[in-house]
Amino acid sequence: MEKPRSAAVYARISSDPTGLALGVQRQLEDCRKLAADRGWTVGAEYVDNDVSAFSGKVRPEYERMLADVRDGLRDAVIVYNMDRLTRRPIELEQFAQVCKAAGVHQVATVTTDVDLGTDDGLFTARIFAAFAAKKSGRKSERLRRKARQNAEQGRPGGGANRPFGYEADKITINPAEAQIVQEMADRYISGESTRSIATDLEDRGVPTSSGAAWRSTTVRNLLHSARIAGLRSHLGEVVGKAMWDPIISVEDRDRILAVAVTKKAAGRRTPRRYLLSGMLRCGKCGGKLFSSARGDERRYVCMSGPDHRGCGGVTVAAPPVEEWLTAAVLYRLDTADMEAVLTGQQAQGTRHAELTAEREKLQARMVELSEMFSEGEVSRLEWKAARDPLERQLTMVDQQLARVPGGHALAQIIGQGDALRAGWATMNLERQHTIIRAVLDYATIQPAERLGRFYPDRIIPVWAV
Ligand SMILES: [Zn+2]
Repeated sequence: MEKPRSAAVYARISSDPTGLALGVQRQLEDCRKLAADRGWTVGAEYVDNDVSAFSGKVRPEYERMLADVRDGLRDAVIVYNMDRLTRRPIELEQFAQVCKAAGVHQVATVTTDVDLGTDDGLFTARIFAAFAAKKSGRKSERLRRKARQNAEQGRPGGGANRPFGYEADKITINPAEAQIVQEMADRYISGESTRSIATDLEDRGVPTSSGAAWRSTTVRNLLHSARIAGLRSHLGEVVGKAMWDPIISVEDRDRILAVAVTKKAAGRRTPRRYLLSGMLRCGKCGGKLFSSARGDERRYVCMSGPDHRGCGGVTVAAPPVEEWLTAAVLYRLDTADMEAVLTGQQAQGTRHAELTAEREKLQARMVELSEMFSEGEVSRLEWKAARDPLERQLTMVDQQLARVPGGHALAQIIGQGDALRAGWATMNLERQHTIIRAVLDYATIQPAERLGRFYPDRIIPVWAV
């Protein structure tokens, strides 16, 4: 085989608390010596620092090397050991593919040589990769066992954030914050909503432990945490008494959990009170308008404050907007435009089926992923990293699904505007909402020029069909 004239040297140092792994410098020296011994010319050196190949994080220098091999700039690769190069079997397959396509067969390591151009060589490399993956897996297993043990001994977890109510050691109580925690618990138990508690804390200028704003979820997570009752939880389950002192009593904790259950049940029973919830947007900031009552007056409002990111600049009384948009939707159902829509129904039915299938696929992958996590095949970080994009995709598919009618809903109401108008008052709000939703994508509400008056031209509907 011809001697390489522009070999790539790759070195990587992984996060290494024991300090036993080879430093990058040593790896590079050994690789350069190997190149010199064989009479190979080194074209470029690539060094990634402090990243574990197993974590799936991006390795910029590794990517650059792959690109150079792909572009034909390098004709061989030297690494100290195969586990510096790849730690996941799938990465080896990608690496092997790039090398094969570029005609690069010579991969030398200080410990073993691998000729990716032969079946034997590839087989050896695969064994190395499988072995390295297993070693990393065992390492995570050790870490998991250690975390479990920590929890069972009641020690604090390793998260970076200081828990509200405690000092940075996560054990000593912070008296001022502890008083607020007890106050929050009392208010929650007496029926106050997490949203109202969050708003109040923000108004009073009470800082959270991270400095971020108080939100309903911050309040909820804090009150639901086992920690403030002096209990240690692990992966969502209480595993025993913690080594720190409680801020609230275990009885209060039980009351909090009971209130949460009641609220959840009550939430399901509350009937829809707003015909257009989720369908109106703010003409100033583009944010969603939320339903909100002031006294007896039902309104849609752009909300600023803890849980919302709106500008707070648009408010509209609910009844006239609902009346106007209902009339517009029913009128639209009888127009010629909608006749044309009916012909498009077939296509939409197909699209609906496609989206439903995609949704099922995404869900199946999420289930599979959580199984891998519970089996210990992937770490919590890896699980989160893979799950978050899936969740985003799922939300997108759901949004699209909400816009594409199932095919039947619209077919039944097109041309029926008159009949629907006659029966409108006797329909329940759910049914009315479904009909409007099938025709209207959303409507933007412009800010009022003069307070107290409703102008129909404040409403800009965007039709779904
Ligand atoms: Zn706004």
